Amino acid sequence: MLVLLEKGVSEGVVNDVAARLRMFGLSVHRTDHEGQVRLGAIGDRVPVDWEAARRWPGVAEIRRIPVSFKLVSREFRPRDTVISVGRCAIGGEQLALMAGPCSVEGEEQVFRIAEAVARAGATIMRGGAYKPRTSPYSFQGLGEEGLKILRRAADAHGLAVVSEVLDSQQVPLVARYADILQIGARNMQNSALLREVGRGEKPVLLKRGPACTIEEWLMSAEHIVSHGNSQVILCERGIRTFETYTRYTLDLNAIPVVKELSHLPVVVDPSHGTGIRNKVAPMARAAIAAGADGLIIEVHHDPDHALSDGPQSLYPEQFRELVEQIRAIAKVLGRRV
Ligand code: PEP
Ligand code: MN
Repeated sequence: MLVLLEKGVSEGVVNDVAARLRMFGLSVHRTDHEGQVRLGAIGDRVPVDWEAARRWPGVAEIRRIPVSFKLVSREFRPRDTVISVGRCAIGGEQLALMAGPCSVEGEEQVFRIAEAVARAGATIMRGGAYKPRTSPYSFQGLGEEGLKILRRAADAHGLAVVSEVLDSQQVPLVARYADILQIGARNMQNSALLREVGRGEKPVLLKRGPACTIEEWLMSAEHIVSHGNSQVILCERGIRTFETYTRYTLDLNAIPVVKELSHLPVVVDPSHGTGIRNKVAPMARAAIAAGADGLIIEVHHDPDHALSDGPQSLYPEQFRELVEQIRAIAKVLGRRV
């Protein structure tokens, strides 16, 4: 339920209404909108007399939230969520450009790519130190050593860091080095992991599972937000369809759909979405034109020798050129890089 309080009520009244709601076993989440306090009251263990609640002091209106995801819905929070990370705010006027290698492979590689992507205009460096791989015989990542390298390289170039966390026990370790915790597509419905990052304070980049609907994706975001962490960035990275020419089918429909349903920022990963280097830039441009709040793109200076995802990695010059195109598209939309 959404409990709208009268405009201008004191904090004492807000606390009072929240306390009454909690007495019914409801969890209470607050958001403020145009001078009005809105309380999302979640739970259904104890029946509540909502007719009586409408007459509680300070209550203006009570509405049902008509969708299964509550706290991430526009009904709960009409205004866009903007997440501050380093010198960038994700979900506002500025587009978030995240770029870097698929995997952290070593010091020289990461420093070289960090310099290139920072110079091109990226503000967030990506790189996996713990890699989810289809084959157990493929490179699994450098672990903590990789996170240290990534942090140093990002700091040297004024970039924030996004890196994947594979399981719930890993959260504190990855959170020590990364500014944004990436939940990979394979883990989108790992509820233990969602709960753990939900209890933390670091922003979360939640990739869409390749076989998951938009509603399931938003429900995974709801898991995180319901545990207290409202800083979730959704990432469309392609879904599995009957089409095999590209690695996945990048679902750009999801951008305007999610923008309507949810207040959370949405970024697009055209690297995994296409799996083909020369398809990355067109889909990146399309994603921004469709209203995405940013991009996450794999970049490698020597993709033929990359330890993962070389065929979909842009050369640094290609990334630089793409950023210039994105800059032009952003301008038309009243946004900026
Ligand atoms: C990645 O970002 O390198 C990655 C493994 O992505 P996804 O989880 O989308 O496959
Ligand atoms: Mn990858």
